[in-house]
Amino acid sequence: MKTFYIETFGCQMNAHDSEKVVGTLVQQGYAQVETPDQAELVVYNTCSIRDKAEQKVFHRLQQFKKEAGKGKVFAVIGCVAQQEGERIFERAPHVSLVAGSASYTKLPQMLVQLEAGNRRVTGLSLDTDEAFDTPFTRRDNPHRAYITIIEGCDKSCAYCVVPFTRGPERSRTSDSVMREAKDLAAHGYTEVQLLGQNVNSYRDPSETGWDFARLLENVGNIPGMRRVRFTTSHPRDFVKEIIDAIDRNQALCNHVHLPVQSGSNRVLAAMQRQYTRDEYMRRIEWMKSVNRDIAITTDIIVGFPGETERDFDETLDLIGTVEYDSMFIFKYSKRPNTAALQYEDQIPEDEKTRRLIVVQEKQRAIQIRRNAVYVGRTEEVHVEGYNKATSQWIGRTSQNKTLNFVHAPLPAPDSGRTLVGDYLDVLVTRAGPNSLAGESVAGHVVLQ
Ligand code: SF4
Repeated sequence: MKTFYIETFGCQMNAHDSEKVVGTLVQQGYAQVETPDQAELVVYNTCSIRDKAEQKVFHRLQQFKKEAGKGKVFAVIGCVAQQEGERIFERAPHVSLVAGSASYTKLPQMLVQLEAGNRRVTGLSLDTDEAFDTPFTRRDNPHRAYITIIEGCDKSCAYCVVPFTRGPERSRTSDSVMREAKDLAAHGYTEVQLLGQNVNSYRDPSETGWDFARLLENVGNIPGMRRVRFTTSHPRDFVKEIIDAIDRNQALCNHVHLPVQSGSNRVLAAMQRQYTRDEYMRRIEWMKSVNRDIAITTDIIVGFPGETERDFDETLDLIGTVEYDSMFIFKYSKRPNTAALQYEDQIPEDEKTRRLIVVQEKQRAIQIRRNAVYVGRTEEVHVEGYNKATSQWIGRTSQNKTLNFVHAPLPAPDSGRTLVGDYLDVLVTRAGPNSLAGESVAGHVVLQ
């Protein structure tokens, strides 16, 4: 039996791609092993969103330099593979396969070439209208599942590598997405997350012609589907119909991640984000004006080339105006092939760090305030795990908040019984900046 080891870096798209790559390898007769030392084939699914992420794979490969020519085969796939291409063979001669995500549909053929002894196998074409739609997906989680609905991106944000590493947008047919979602529900899944670099620009290529809001609502109407999430959105393509669908359908989680990146129109234009601050704020007003209490999260980049103190103040002002439930904050990182690489007025690293800390502190105060209002409320959670150290169960609310809670009686360790995958009502008794805490409401097991 051929053995393989896979390590995944980066985003949920990569995590789900790896589930499909694993499924394809198993279908091709490979067995997955726990460590690279045990494996005949070592696969790194890579991320190139920032320089630090990119360097990780080369650090790994360096550790195995001594393995060159000893029968162990190395494969580099994903965004660094697409970005660096055949240069990887020069930098790490013990690598035998380099393939970007747009070539995963050809993985079986590439494996055959490897098994035939070819040590310079590549899959680097971005010229495809196919999404990686495969029946062979090995899912890591038995309760929550990812479904990729669109791959690639047609936008050209000045700091982003994705259009160069994942290629043009390719939407799956609504039929194939619905078939996958129904099959998951039939196998006991109650929560799915629809994935795409920009899910909002989903457009069903078949004559059905659904847009994202229509697809979202139809997935939410599948019997047995209790929670539907989606990521990542782009303000330019974020339409009111999405909010109306969330407001109407309880199965659609009341959480929206809408990356803004900056509060300054000057910086948004330089970033080529294709929306203004006002256009962005209109979408926030839509979310705040509906009945359901929608949690809003975002991404912020600090230290983008040319960002003045005044631009930065406008970002801080926007954060104070929206009051996000949480956010990812990044320091601008120079990336190959991107427009901003050529921009003058690069911000010094220590100034980027100062701005990052200022945003972190401001957002922390907001999160403390926003989470405090949950104390005394009863929230339904989907149980994700158990923390032995704190003797607490880890739950997630529909708004994507972590709610750690105690539940009595604790299932006996030898009972094989667990709460993971169940839905329970939990009374919130404490709140911190990043999570809530509470106790389960006796007898309120919503779904097992
Ligand atoms: S929308 Fe912009 S930031 Fe998002 S993946 Fe596309 S190019 Fe990158």
